[in-house]
Amino acid sequence: MRPILLFALALLTTGAAAAAGNSFAIRDVRVFDGDKVIAGANVVVHDGRITAAAANAHIPAGLPVVDGAGKTLLPGLIDSHVHVFPGAQKDALRFGVTTELDMFDISRDFKAWRAQRQSLARTDEADTWAAGLGATVAGGAPLEMAPPGFKVATVTSVADAKPFIDARVAEGSDYIKVFLEDLSEYDTPKRMPTLTRAEACAVIAAAHADGKLAIVHAQQESMAREAIDCGADGLAHIFPDRPADAGFVALAKAHHIFVLTTDDIWAGVAGTGLAGKLAADPRVAPFLSAMQKTTLLAKDKRVMPHWFDNALATTRALHEAGVPILAGTDSPNPGSAHGVALHEELQILVRAGFTPVEALHAATALPDEIFHLGRRGRVAPGYRADLLLVNGDPTQHIADTLSIVDIWKNGYAVDRAVH
Ligand SMILES: [Zn+2]
Repeated sequence: MRPILLFALALLTTGAAAAAGNSFAIRDVRVFDGDKVIAGANVVVHDGRITAAAANAHIPAGLPVVDGAGKTLLPGLIDSHVHVFPGAQKDALRFGVTTELDMFDISRDFKAWRAQRQSLARTDEADTWAAGLGATVAGGAPLEMAPPGFKVATVTSVADAKPFIDARVAEGSDYIKVFLEDLSEYDTPKRMPTLTRAEACAVIAAAHADGKLAIVHAQQESMAREAIDCGADGLAHIFPDRPADAGFVALAKAHHIFVLTTDDIWAGVAGTGLAGKLAADPRVAPFLSAMQKTTLLAKDKRVMPHWFDNALATTRALHEAGVPILAGTDSPNPGSAHGVALHEELQILVRAGFTPVEALHAATALPDEIFHLGRRGRVAPGYRADLLLVNGDPTQHIADTLSIVDIWKNGYAVDRAVH
C-alpha cells in the first residue's frame, strides 16, 4: 500500500469514540430503535450493553460522552443472507454490519462463532449465525462451484433426509438451508440435479422435528411454491424469474413465511450498474478491502435483464401484503460484498416501496425476532451495544446509512481502516 493512501486512511479513521473501554454515552442523538424514531435521545452504554436510550436519560458523571447532534444512531445492522469465509466478518463490521446470518458455508466454525456471539469482548468481526452445509444432492447447487474432488455430505434419498439433518444439527447448524435449483430459469442449456419434491419435503419436516427453521433457495416461482407447500419457514431469495401474482402472494401470506431479499444480486444480474456506483461512492471507496472491491465489481456471466424489475415488483407485493421481509445480500456473490452491500439492499427496499424506517427494521429488529439472535438489533436497555452512528437522517434518506461516523461492537469503537 502506498504511504499517501495509508495517511488518508489514518485521517479517515474517526476518533469521536476514542474511549478505550466499552462504557460511554451519546448525547442528544436521533435514535432509530429498531422500530421507530426517538428524537433528541441520550444513550448510555455500560460494559458493552445499552442501559438507557431515551430523551433526557441521565448520563452518569465520568462517562466519555459523544455528541450526537445532527446524527442518527442505529442498531448495528444484520445481514440475513451471506456466505462467510476468512476475513468476511471483518469486512462486514467495517461497514456497520455487526451480525451476519450465513446461508451455506463449508468452514463450519460453529464453536468459535457461538463463543464470540455470546461474549462482550472486543472483536474486529461481526458475529455469525450459520446454516453450515445445506441440504442438496451430489452435483447440485451450490456444490457445482466446489473445486474438483471436493466432497461433503448430500441428501441421497427420502430415507436419508432425517439422518442428514440430524448430522447438521449435531454439527452445530443454527438453521437448515435447502437448495431447489435446476438452472432452468436461466437462458442457457445447462441443467443441474436437485432435490425431488419428496426429498425437499422430508428435509423440511426433519428440520422441524429437530426444532430448526428451514430456509429454501428457490430462484423460480414454481420452486418457491413447492417449498411453501412443503412447509418451508422462509425463502432465501425473492425469485426473479417472474413477478409474483396474487395467487403466490396469498400462498405466502397463508403459510406465514418470511423472505430474505438479496435483490442486490438481481440488480447485478440485470446489469443495472448499482454496485459499481456504490464502490465509487467517496463514503465507501476508502474502506473497501481488496476482496470487497473484487466481489462488488464482479459481473455475473449470465445477464438476465428483467430479473431486477421482477424482484422489485415481488418485493413490493409481498411487503404490501404484510409478509415479513428481511434484508440480505448473498455476499460475496458477483455484485455484492460483505458489509457494504447491505447499505445498497436498504436503498433497494426503499425503491420497492418500503419507508426508510421499514427498510431499517428489516435489517435490525426483525431478523432478531425471527432468528432469536439474543437481544441485538435494537437500541434499548439490555441490548448488546452493537451500534452505528451516521451523519444525517437515514429514517428520511436511506442512503445516509453510508455516512458513517462511528461503529461500536460490544460497546467498543471499531477501527474502520483496512488492515
Ligand atoms: Zn446465498
